[in-house]
Amino acid sequence: MDVTIDNPAVAEALARYWGFDRLRPLQGEAIAANLAGRDSLLVMPTGGGKSLTYQLPALVANSLDVVVSPLVALMKDQVDGLREAGIPAVAFDGSLTHAERGAIRDELEAGAYRLLFLSPEMLLGSALPNFLRTIGVRAVAIDEAHCISQWGHDFRPEYRQLAGLRDLIPGVSIHACTATATPRVREDILQQLNLREPEVMVGSFDRPNLTYRIRPRENRRKQILEEVNRHAGEAAIIYALSRRDTEQIADALRKDGVNAAFYHAGLTRDQRDRVHEQFARERLDVVVATVAFGMGIDRSNVRTVIHASMPRSIEHYQQETGRAGRDGDPAECVLLHSYADVERWRGLAERSFNEAMAETDDPESLRAGFESQEQLLADMNALATNAICRHRSIVEYFGETYEQENCGSCDVCLGEVDLLEDSTTVARKVLSCVARVESRFGVQHVADVLCGADTDTIRRLRHDELSTHGLLADLTKSAVSNLIHQLIEQGWLSRTPGDRPVVQLNEQSPTLLRGEVEVSLLQPRIKKTRSTSAAEDASWDGVERGLFEALRTLRREIADEIGKPPYVVFPDTTLRALARHRPADMATLGFIKGVGEKKRRSYGPRFLEALDQWSAMHGGGRDIGIGVV
Ligand code: ADP
Ligand code: ZN
Repeated sequence: MDVTIDNPAVAEALARYWGFDRLRPLQGEAIAANLAGRDSLLVMPTGGGKSLTYQLPALVANSLDVVVSPLVALMKDQVDGLREAGIPAVAFDGSLTHAERGAIRDELEAGAYRLLFLSPEMLLGSALPNFLRTIGVRAVAIDEAHCISQWGHDFRPEYRQLAGLRDLIPGVSIHACTATATPRVREDILQQLNLREPEVMVGSFDRPNLTYRIRPRENRRKQILEEVNRHAGEAAIIYALSRRDTEQIADALRKDGVNAAFYHAGLTRDQRDRVHEQFARERLDVVVATVAFGMGIDRSNVRTVIHASMPRSIEHYQQETGRAGRDGDPAECVLLHSYADVERWRGLAERSFNEAMAETDDPESLRAGFESQEQLLADMNALATNAICRHRSIVEYFGETYEQENCGSCDVCLGEVDLLEDSTTVARKVLSCVARVESRFGVQHVADVLCGADTDTIRRLRHDELSTHGLLADLTKSAVSNLIHQLIEQGWLSRTPGDRPVVQLNEQSPTLLRGEVEVSLLQPRIKKTRSTSAAEDASWDGVERGLFEALRTLRREIADEIGKPPYVVFPDTTLRALARHRPADMATLGFIKGVGEKKRRSYGPRFLEALDQWSAMHGGGRDIGIGVV
């Protein structure tokens, strides 16, 4: 993947200051554009190595280059790191005293620095542009450039002023960097910054070593523990929506014997540093955090990232899951999804929008920002509720094409997602029922009608006389309401806001009603009465090690054949369950957790054969479907 370097000065600086001997994809191109004084836009996922591309050229050109960054804390970290490596860098921020500023100016004039870090406000402040013009700046890098776009997930109005940069400091080249840019945001960055014939470089957002799974959230504590235990003793990050959630989850994990701590912006700087440090030094396995945790995590062997709630955009999801497996080894990402998260995010966004509206003199752009947040949230929710390959969904969102039919590393492609067989027909039945009750009732009532219930309301309104009454009588009411929610989440139905939400047809509905589109619905989970506990799954109770090892050998064989890591075939928990229950036939095999329909068909016969062989040699009973899972 890495590329060799044809510019000796670049190779020398890279080895001398960073100790690297190779460049990563696009780094060479980005450095070349920078050194040639050509404007550029570099889009690369977090951790791809963007910072090097604007730091190294300043050393090679022996110039003074400016780096614009939105967060003072991040700037300081970068400057500390650079100085550590012997690179003369300085940050100019609002916290400096008058005297300190004067001193830095003198040093800048004397040519003591290669890199100057600034916030946008600073760069465009009244006196600085003049000063920079006189001392001569070669290039300006703009980090987190998506902050300039209101379509991005982190719009910062002060970034807008960077549009005037070119006139204030003529002759500089401008290099925008971002980790998160959809095609729309990308276009916006190019325009807003007024880039001239820019070199646009877009790296891949796919992380092939990550396996994505999105599960309905049913029992948060149990589900999280299950995931954490699959990688016992290894590093995991758990993202939660609120500070309180992080504390609760960390608490529960500790009670279950996991070495976990929480992290959020409400902690003191010292407390946060401690968590960071302990995690980095591998003294701490699990961090339960809000989005505040992430910047500057330097642990590359994180094996699991669990989202206890849904993030508010695919950008966030990509970035947060991207903290798993940075060493390139397989890692897992599990999102526990619930529609309640959409409502929580929406509530938060509405509140801050209303507060900001009370004070703003620019309501237009506030409203636009708010609407784009809604869209980002809806996109994330669609990703979580659709049964489309997760790798594909993510990269296509970022404007890439995805070539593989089956990624082999997401729940959808692994056949773990149970789809409702006649999804489209069922969806049309639901929509017709909403039409019959004239889009005037809530989820519960629509579900009642579809199930053919006999409630007071139904009798009073004579909804038992509707043609759609009892149309889905073969399903339970909770299954039907789950399906209605899925249709709302996928955007085939709408729900009014407020205390008494009503389900309505929307502008998308007719295409589905007319049969012009197909939809995929997840099989509503019917609560299994026979279910193993997380502790049992994780434990070795009733598992013969020898049998486990035999199954493991088979798993390795299959993994080699399909060219995938073994856990893609079955996780350890499934092997243990197989060894524990020893299913006797294909039907019984289906009861084992982790054995989806597809895997059962593909690998089932071979695992049954291995179990047969073991039983023939060592004896022991087989399970025929009673008392399993
Ligand atoms: P980004 O800014 O894109 O999020 P960083 O610039 O922080 O990424 O780089 C991520 C990590 O990759 C850092 O630890 C950095 O030292 C490392 N890195 C960057 N370029 C290279 C390279 N050419 N060879 C090896 N490691 C690199
Ligand atoms: Zn996939």
